[in-house]
Amino acid sequence: MSSKVAYEALHTKEGMSRRDALKVMGLTGGAAMMMGAPTKVEASSTDKAVNIVVVGGGAGGIMATVRLSKAASNAKITLIAPNETHLYQPGQVFMAAGLYTESDIQRKNADFIPDSVNWVKDEVTHFDPDNNKVTTAKNGDISYDYLVVATGLEYNYEGIEGMSKDLVGQHGISSVYLNDPVAGTARGGVATAQWFKDMRKAAESASPEKPIQVICTQPDTPIKCGGAPQKILYLSDDNLRGNGPDGGEDVSKNATFNFCKKGTTLFGVPAYNKTLVEEVTPMYGNITDKWDHVLRKIDAENKIATFEHKVQKKGAYDEDLEEYEMITTTEMVEMKYDFIHIVPPMRPTTVVANSKLGITKGSGKGWLEVDFDTLQHLRYPNVFGIGDILGVPKGKTGGSARHHGPILVDNLISVIEGKKPTEKFDGYTVCPLKTQYGEIMLAEFDYEGIAPSFPILDPSRPRWMWWAFDLYILKTLYWQLMMRGLM
Ligand SMILES: Cc1cc2nc3c(=O)[nH]c(=O)nc-3n(C[C@H](O)[C@H](O)[C@H](O)COP(=O)(O)OP(=O)(O)OC[C@H]3O[C@@H](n4cnc5c(N)ncnc54)[C@H](O)[C@@H]3O)c2cc1C
Repeated sequence: MSSKVAYEALHTKEGMSRRDALKVMGLTGGAAMMMGAPTKVEASSTDKAVNIVVVGGGAGGIMATVRLSKAASNAKITLIAPNETHLYQPGQVFMAAGLYTESDIQRKNADFIPDSVNWVKDEVTHFDPDNNKVTTAKNGDISYDYLVVATGLEYNYEGIEGMSKDLVGQHGISSVYLNDPVAGTARGGVATAQWFKDMRKAAESASPEKPIQVICTQPDTPIKCGGAPQKILYLSDDNLRGNGPDGGEDVSKNATFNFCKKGTTLFGVPAYNKTLVEEVTPMYGNITDKWDHVLRKIDAENKIATFEHKVQKKGAYDEDLEEYEMITTTEMVEMKYDFIHIVPPMRPTTVVANSKLGITKGSGKGWLEVDFDTLQHLRYPNVFGIGDILGVPKGKTGGSARHHGPILVDNLISVIEGKKPTEKFDGYTVCPLKTQYGEIMLAEFDYEGIAPSFPILDPSRPRWMWWAFDLYILKTLYWQLMMRGLM
């Protein structure tokens, strides 16, 4: 079945009820099976009258708040979150692909926050863990016995010289990641959908002799959903082959793509990397991987991107070691483009990075300093974290936050009850990598390596069923189950 036919056959704008979502889970063999470890309901609970503050009302903050309100029946739970609207951020890629609209990925945060929770619509401007309090922009200081940090991460578009988020949607520049979590808007999804259309139009009037030049970038910082830069690369190219929702002739020969990133692999897990390097990239025939090219500067008016390119060169011959010394040199490389997709450098939320809660030195500087297993702060035992802000080596995805949720709640309750936290996060990360319209390689992995939820199927194979699951089911499960602490 072609993706377009299947899309028309299956796509419905109507939402699904929680009941229908549960039925779908049954039909699909259980979404939990498809997305990591079995659904886990907190084993522990407490009736202690403690004061818990959660900061941040995105995926992780809502999951933590909802689960805590069930497990700690007498606790006073305060959520500090400025956003009235909740964004289902993974859907920004389907917006770019022309399959979702912005309203498909927006819901009211009030739909998920239990009535028993004290919701303070404000931002934290300072963390003071020595005195167990936070300062807010409009509501003064708020004290806590226990704190959960769920502020996510920040984009640093300005970290690229000449770049700013205002340029997204202009001069052939797009960036699917761009969103405003406080306003609840996803400008990156809207702009990238237009970018797909503009690119197709330009390719229709180009030729194989004079193709349009497209660049897709990935920064050298940790990013959320590490596969998204490639999702845009493959889907925009496949759209030129006529496989997007608007169809059309195959004009992909009229375009060349350069994918520019740090390192010499497309994915950190070898099994998934092999599929991408040996099958997916060659299948397109017009994509070149530019290894160790990191975007440093953009000249939007003249459409020139400048990359820092690290090159290994042979140095002097070492008689003792009987080999050449390898010297790394850096050169700046300019590339002209017609269309560029920029993934911004990302960093921990400034208010966390500047507080005593952040890691103080090394490559993880600024991220929340938690134990990789228990998610408990290493220096402040009454502080825990969830989601992208965590200073752990893996897991900047919504799927990871779903796994953090029950672990952090169980461990926090153990601490409230005067016990040691024992639940462990295994590094679970999920990336539904869209290799073309109608196919996804469901890359699941943890601290140890691949971690398929359904090992009977080779996880390195792109499949239609994962595409269908992601496009038609996952969003509903997110609203109906994950955001309600049921999954
Ligand atoms: C384009 C794109 C594609 C993605 N694809 C996938 C995917 O396919 N699968 C997947 O699992 N994940 C995907 N993700 C990642 C996923 O959306 C995030 O990992 C997830 O949202 C992390 O949750 P979080 O709560 O840590 O951060 P967020 O959901 O970003 O929420 C952080 C919240 O904290 C609030 N906040 C920040 N600072 C403060 C403060 N000082 N005071 C109060 N509140 C504050 C913000 O307003 C925000 O609401 C994707 C993300 C993007 C952008």
